[in-house]
Amino acid sequence: MKNPEWTDRLVSKVLEIEHRTKCPKVIFRKGNGSGTAFYKFKRTKTHNGVWIRKMSWSHITVRSYGNEKRDKMVLLHELAHVMGRVNTGHNLKFWERAWSYYEVFRSELDWEAVKKSEFWYMKKAKTAYEKLYPEVEPPLGQLSLAI
Ligand SMILES: [Zn+2]
Repeated sequence: MKNPEWTDRLVSKVLEIEHRTKCPKVIFRKGNGSGTAFYKFKRTKTHNGVWIRKMSWSHITVRSYGNEKRDKMVLLHELAHVMGRVNTGHNLKFWERAWSYYEVFRSELDWEAVKKSEFWYMKKAKTAYEKLYPEVEPPLGQLSLAI
């Protein structure tokens, strides 16, 4: 499918926020699923002439089933990944970046859906913990830190 007309506007605003000029290519695809930020390995030479393999962002895909507000959230989520370092996943820095983007575009998003979707990651963390330690109380103090 063609990228929605608002794609470049969101990307440009995020680049402006980050004081950056380049962003990996964004590709929208029809269908159920989520977004993915892909990375690739690049061969680069260090200052002492040694070749090394370096990871860098390659492109973003967004799976769309036609819900514009949801698609905007997914794109912003993936942009928060590619504006950070490769392979750092959903760390605190990532979430700070993601929520700052959501805030900028708040009027274009379904805020309750954003919270529901993004807090779901934390629920997964808790579920996995409870599977591993069924008899132990989860450390609630630490879990609530991330909210
Ligand atoms: Zn993610």
